Amino acid sequence: MKKFTRIAIANRGEVAVRIIKACEEMGIETVLLHSEADINSRAFRMATKTICIGPAPTAESYLNIQANINGALAGGAQAIHPGFGFLSENADFAEAVGKAGLTFIGPSPEAIRALGDKVHCKELAKQAGLPLVPGYQGENQDVEHLIQQAEKIGYPVIVKAAAGGGGRGMKLLKSSTDARELIESAQREGQSAFGSPKVFLEKYLDRAKHIEFQVFGDSTGNVQHFFDRECSVQRRHQKIIEEATSPSLTDELRRRMGEAACAIATLGKYKGAGTVEFLLQDGEFYLLEVNTRLQVEHPVTEEVLGVDLVKMQILTAQGDYVHDAKQIRVPRGHSIECRIYAENPFLGGVPSTGLLGHVEWPEGPGRRYEYGFDANDTITPFYDPMIAKVIVWDESRPRAIQKMIRVLKDSVVFGVHTNIPYLIEILSHKEFVMGTMTTRFIETYFGESLKEPTLTDIEKTVAAGALLQLRGGANGASTTSSSPWASYWRGI
Ligand code: ADP
Repeated sequence: MKKFTRIAIANRGEVAVRIIKACEEMGIETVLLHSEADINSRAFRMATKTICIGPAPTAESYLNIQANINGALAGGAQAIHPGFGFLSENADFAEAVGKAGLTFIGPSPEAIRALGDKVHCKELAKQAGLPLVPGYQGENQDVEHLIQQAEKIGYPVIVKAAAGGGGRGMKLLKSSTDARELIESAQREGQSAFGSPKVFLEKYLDRAKHIEFQVFGDSTGNVQHFFDRECSVQRRHQKIIEEATSPSLTDELRRRMGEAACAIATLGKYKGAGTVEFLLQDGEFYLLEVNTRLQVEHPVTEEVLGVDLVKMQILTAQGDYVHDAKQIRVPRGHSIECRIYAENPFLGGVPSTGLLGHVEWPEGPGRRYEYGFDANDTITPFYDPMIAKVIVWDESRPRAIQKMIRVLKDSVVFGVHTNIPYLIEILSHKEFVMGTMTTRFIETYFGESLKEPTLTDIEKTVAAGALLQLRGGANGASTTSSSPWASYWRGI
């Protein structure tokens, strides 16, 4: 068994803060491996030590394997936590970390290769007898052959980059007319964004829900699941709102999906936190993929089960976490997470960057905020526009929805636009309230930009005053709108 005294964090933003907090509580020091662009951030201020590993572009810093390892070694860390995104699912990175004499906080490189690669994962899933979406994942990547396969599957068909992720490298083929162009474009995107042109095809399920199971393999390799999350509210295949547990599962389905999730993770010799994603349509579930890392939406699972997945990850990497066989986990109440993006909901969600003004997250029972930036920090255009996560817990789903709407209305973010007004609309929508939404919910009901609210004279005066104050303290905030009350503010 090892005992870490210092952990390096190969990440940024709110997840870096999340890891630092877990380490602080465990008496472990932290080394933040950051880019030149991230010196104005909470993680930078909170870490025990900070080491700049390169300039802003991700390829030269957060995605640079050697720079991260050199930084961790120079900082005197014994282990690296990769967070999510960036190098977190990169088996070569996990292997290089081990070779450098450090511990990778996550599964083994072999497990990442077996489960993290979407095509390998499907092969393993077949062995485990898991239901897969009908499709083609063969070696023949000739476009003519792929078009023939798409026709065999039957349109609509989705083409995905085998190495893709985060909703990228994915195209919907509606008919044979544009199939060639879209397959070639997915191959190009796969090559440029993920280093491989390999694609595969799946039947497109047009009324599916996204349901996933949190799995966890302890130090002895015993895999258990920590129940489910529903993430059907997505825009362009990216999640916006997640909840635990899913309002859509019967006890029987939950049991069967949980068993399937544990079966594939066990077959992949999984250790640490991972997520098995499924699509659920007409009462049937199909494996989508396995994410071999901590998930952005892990807090909702933590809230309903009273666990700390990041600490469990660290303990497992130390060889020090074993599931308690006597403990029967039962989810309690309901938890919802909203991702706060720095973007303009009134202009189709274009990114909004600049200096943050006053920021306020209203305290109260059952409210949790995971954020990476404070007032006077800059939201730069270099990275993912997610700047915070708001998580609520309450005794029932309707109460959790009610709480989330109130919390979002009371949250204040000056300086950049956020998607908060958009989130409030979604949470109030009948279909979301009933829990019947599918992954096409957003495209069906929220395809258009939100209408900018009309302000009363009093509101205009207050907004103009606040803007003046903001300009005084935080000059140069850039926003894509010419409106003088460009920022979302309390009460709109
Ligand atoms: P990524 O790794 O980029 O997140 P996933 O394979 O996990 O990609 O899919 C992301 C989302 O794309 C899913 O949650 C779902 O909304 C949509 N999607 C993926 N495959 C299908 C499919 N076969 N049919 C319908 N929707 C799909």
